[in-house]
Amino acid sequence: MNTYKIAVLAGDGIGPEVMEQALRVLDALEKKHGFATERTACFVGGAGIDNCGKALPAETLAACEAADAILFGSVGGPKWDSLPPDERPERGALLPLRKHFSLYANLRPGICLPELVEASPIKTALIPNGFDILCVRELTGGMYFGEPKFYGERDGEIVGIDTLVYKKSEVERIARVAFEAARGRSKKLCSVDKANVLASSVMWREVMNSISAEYPEVELTHMYVDNAAMQLVRHPGQFDVLVTENTFGDILTDEMAIVCGSLGMLPSASLCEGADSFFGLYEPSGGSAPDIAGKGIANPIAQILSMGMMLRYTCRETAAADDVDRAVRAVIAAGYRTADLATGAAGEIRVGTAGMGDAIIAAL
Ligand code: NAD
Repeated sequence: MNTYKIAVLAGDGIGPEVMEQALRVLDALEKKHGFATERTACFVGGAGIDNCGKALPAETLAACEAADAILFGSVGGPKWDSLPPDERPERGALLPLRKHFSLYANLRPGICLPELVEASPIKTALIPNGFDILCVRELTGGMYFGEPKFYGERDGEIVGIDTLVYKKSEVERIARVAFEAARGRSKKLCSVDKANVLASSVMWREVMNSISAEYPEVELTHMYVDNAAMQLVRHPGQFDVLVTENTFGDILTDEMAIVCGSLGMLPSASLCEGADSFFGLYEPSGGSAPDIAGKGIANPIAQILSMGMMLRYTCRETAAADDVDRAVRAVIAAGYRTADLATGAAGEIRVGTAGMGDAIIAAL
């Protein structure tokens, strides 16, 4: 029986509540699909600060290093907001983890299920059947990391400098992740750049074109980022897989999250190559939601889908991963709604965090 080692970092706020449901669903999947996990629960974020004095305690990092994947909840909250920025839960835990493991590929699905189109700010007539996009964002290069980076005086004038730099090899590896993802979906990949202005984008586009020769079954198109930002709110259904550089991806994935409706539905994966599959950190797109923490009303679906992405990309348990997606769609179609999804429509079955977990397990 295949056994996978998982570091479970539930974190703060709603993190532990939604993580509990994801682990219950994982228990059910293990029984049904015949695999096993060895789980190590660790403190992270505010819980790391309170229990071990650091947002990313050494023992947590060691457990992550020994694991095949990190299943992450969310970190942060008002209790730790007065700490210096570098010691706060988000900066002190997530960024070091991404850097330590060179997690260069960020996959963010933007799914608006047909039954939930009313929750999207886009007019229902424009998205009658919802949409299902996957954005592949380069996460460790580009302007956020490029050198020189400078803020100060130069030639008698105050200047701020950031550098948008990409190496060909960095673009090639993210291109392959995106083409692989597109090959497993509807075989349409849209690469987003600013090749009419930026030299880094001209190179990006050339590399995308050259890698596309390795994937003749995938149709590659290109779009300027300003147009992509407009198209995402005008007609999101035209996209299947998007691939873009770090800064553009940061902005477009947040735009994508809002057009989907609720943050409680959106998972994410941050990946790098492992021995024969991806090593990854899997987490919901939203934060620790202190406004609803402890009330038992948070939507656990983003955490459950993040666990499903872990089964797909790290464990290669494709049937179990497909099962997670299918069960979530089934409970939404059956009318189950946590508070963030409820519209008051006839036929809705209002549930809390555990009730949604129960419904998904029953649908498995
Ligand atoms: P947030 O994502 O936590 O919450 C924004 C809104 O979405 C809130 O109204 C919240 O109730 C709702 N929401 C989020 N997830 C939900 C879920 N699963 N079910 C139902 N509703 C949900 O963003 P915020 O309020 O800006 O930040 C709160 C804290 O989280 C801050 O400390 C912030 O720094 C931190 N944060 C952490 C991460 C992370 O751990 N990756 C990401 C973003 C924010």
